[in-house]
Amino acid sequence: NGNLAAVDPEVAAAVGAELNRQQTTLEMIASENFAPQAVLEAQGSVLTNKYAEGYPGRRYYGGCEHVDVVERLAIERIKELFGASYANVQPHSGAQANAAAMFALLKPGDTIMGLDLAHGGHLTHGMRINFSGKLYNVVPYHVREDDHRVDMDEVARLARENKPQLIIAGWSAYPRQLDFKRFREIADEVGAKLMVDMAHFAGLVAAGLHPNPVPHAHVVTTTTHKTLGGPRGGVILSSDEEFTKKFNSAVFPGQQGGPLEHVIAGKAVAFKVAAGEEFKDRQRRTVEGAQVLAERLLAEDAKAAGVQLVSGGTDVHLVLVDLRNSELDGQQAEDRLHEIGITVNRNAVPNDPRPPMVTSGLRIGTPALATRGFGKAEFTEVADVIAEALKPGFDETTSAKLRARVEALAAKHPLYPNL
Ligand code: PLP
Repeated sequence: NGNLAAVDPEVAAAVGAELNRQQTTLEMIASENFAPQAVLEAQGSVLTNKYAEGYPGRRYYGGCEHVDVVERLAIERIKELFGASYANVQPHSGAQANAAAMFALLKPGDTIMGLDLAHGGHLTHGMRINFSGKLYNVVPYHVREDDHRVDMDEVARLARENKPQLIIAGWSAYPRQLDFKRFREIADEVGAKLMVDMAHFAGLVAAGLHPNPVPHAHVVTTTTHKTLGGPRGGVILSSDEEFTKKFNSAVFPGQQGGPLEHVIAGKAVAFKVAAGEEFKDRQRRTVEGAQVLAERLLAEDAKAAGVQLVSGGTDVHLVLVDLRNSELDGQQAEDRLHEIGITVNRNAVPNDPRPPMVTSGLRIGTPALATRGFGKAEFTEVADVIAEALKPGFDETTSAKLRARVEALAAKHPLYPNL
């Protein structure tokens, strides 16, 4: 019955080291965030012990009266947040939410369309060795060569030619907004269903800073841990009564057994937080931070270092840096930023000549730093540090100077001071 440090000092030490890493470095992976301490507490609660197969009020196990309260709160709060008439908060992850939504709407062998992984799509949108690529016939669509925006004329053409049963709109690495209305018109024209995967930009939608896909799509899926800032997990939303029973049975018993009620408790807390004013302000700073970053990386000195931006800027919480003209590849740039205490991930740019393990790009996001309290002044300083780091002539002196600037920023906005 001892605490973690007593029972398992090795795991405790790694957890402690990870807390220290998060506190002392700058997290700029676009899909990451810092869950509030209240969410960590809910996730670390005794709810982890409870089996609750089924749905609130209709469980296959006894003793579910308290987890029912929690799950109902999560469902009602997220429905309210996005104006949906149906929500399933049980998917263990974004990938499982997508698998279940597709399981409900499709038969194996059906045709789906999704944004090509190499152009910013997600694995679950039809990647060859993902379940989506194995179970379904995939017709990928792309971004345009010149302005890197999703080519809606190509989407319409491919839809007419291939008559998909499902069109997926959504992305993991795309710095712009999608035209949900046009996607729905195309889907309706060819008799397809429209699924929007808003995993990345859900927080912006909740704050009213991004169009809401719920009124346009047959189904919307999301993760809860990216811009939404909650525990790791997935959700399915819909306002289309025709499908709601199907989604429930696709999640359980279709894809999953017992729901993770401790995570669902964390989701409920996160959705409450997301309905508040502080959250709106945080999302506003998130988008502003990405714009500050874009501006700095478009300046002349960055351009001279071979730095470009996919699509020339951003409307969301991330920028995609194109390093094809730089002396650095994606791996080298990621390593260089890691060396000075900034965590990002290398990312393919559209039509990338380098292999996926190397790439010619970086994906840099602002949600986690906005959660930490960063505003325009701090993002201006981070943007300058990144621009300096990506220049030629980077040596040990530069590295030490930039590292000190990163440490000063981290110290200015302490993370989890009570942990
Ligand atoms: N959908 C999109 C658009 C994503 O970017 C991601 C994660 O990166 C997922 C789904 C999958 O989420 P998870 O990692 O929780 O399975």
